[in-house]
Amino acid sequence: MQENTRVGKVSHLLEKLSESATLAMARMGRELAAEGKPVVNLSIGEPDFNTPDFIKEAAIAAIHANVTHYPPVNGFLELRQAISKKFKRDNDLTYSPEQVVVSTGAKQSLANVILALVNPGDEVIMPSPYWVSYAELVKMAGGTVVELHAGIESNFKITAEGLSNAINDKTKLIIYSSPCNPTGSVYSKEELEALSKVILQHEGVYVISDEIYELINFVGKTYSIGACEGMLDRTITVNGVSKAFAMTGWRLGYIGAPIWIAQACNKMQGQITSGANTIAQMAAKAALEADPSVVNEMIAVFKTRRDRVFEGLSKIPGLKINLPEAAFYFYIDVTAFFNTTDGETVVKNSEDMAMYLLRKVYVATVAGDAFGDSNCIRISYATSEENLDQAVSRMAQALSELKPL
Ligand code: PMP
Ligand code: GLU
Repeated sequence: MQENTRVGKVSHLLEKLSESATLAMARMGRELAAEGKPVVNLSIGEPDFNTPDFIKEAAIAAIHANVTHYPPVNGFLELRQAISKKFKRDNDLTYSPEQVVVSTGAKQSLANVILALVNPGDEVIMPSPYWVSYAELVKMAGGTVVELHAGIESNFKITAEGLSNAINDKTKLIIYSSPCNPTGSVYSKEELEALSKVILQHEGVYVISDEIYELINFVGKTYSIGACEGMLDRTITVNGVSKAFAMTGWRLGYIGAPIWIAQACNKMQGQITSGANTIAQMAAKAALEADPSVVNEMIAVFKTRRDRVFEGLSKIPGLKINLPEAAFYFYIDVTAFFNTTDGETVVKNSEDMAMYLLRKVYVATVAGDAFGDSNCIRISYATSEENLDQAVSRMAQALSELKPL
């Protein structure tokens, strides 16, 4: 009998995809912890705070009011109105409620936009390091990732000149986050204006500006490229409540976009999720209608931790770090330790380094490769000072044992 090659076989699409590196390291950390190992998990980027009470109350009220039926696919009008006002209030962006689409997390917002816009053969420029899921989503759409690298010496930020050299007739999208995961860098208004001038010279090039870390910044205010002159029709602004309001598990994100892109995303998610969870939508409405200063205390805690970790890491010989201006990550250049060994394990690259730190001293980090920059490892400092002190001293010890091959 002829062998049926389809038995037990996943799709070619799935074969091309990598497991999310952030989620994979978090899983490995959890597995070791379950074996009783004293793991300090700095892998996943997730606030360790609880969702504020006023947001939880809004969700409970929604349950009691039976807001439990299918929502409109693009989100409740009252939430889209609140988002439209938030964009105006905080970002100087004019998106009408019809230009807003609410989704199951910013991750789905990104997936909607990328799948709705990118054709096989289209090029998508990504300043690297970039957030892990961008590249995989572009692959899913059949697009080609064009990495535009910016290293620690330029504070991980690309320039207008670099962008100009990377754009060509095949470019469909540019995707970046500011504040940036994994580097914590923030583009200034002037830097965004310079980039937007380059983009506006090329018809048919759109930008996804991922602003999910907007409120977790230590510079006071961040800027949106969509607010630069001429850019509103070219920009999809992605945001969500996961990070700023410690709501990762509620799974609620949103976009503001040109109307035709909002309609395309609406069509896409109508076939995939039928819209975001209704209770989470009402909770998000409460979060976004509140004064953003409600999260100030949380941000102050992140800043204290950032300063503490910066001080600790700065004392470890060989590590190169920048001072992140936002988010809750350090993207640490570990190249000084490539081609070293502790006598047992050989560290050749950032993947080896992440595994060495996990196995030797039970500190879970994420290797830089999945962020498009293999010189670094990422740590998240969204955990207690006690855990952070532990992690830094264990890293110092493990690194001191590495000697050149
Ligand atoms: N963009 C960036 C840069 C992120 O770090 C995350 C965190 N997971 C997301 C998007 C997705 O967030 P959400 O939890 O809303 O899906
Ligand atoms: N954004 C977080 C991170 O980068 C969460 C993990 C994920 O959604 O992939 O770690």
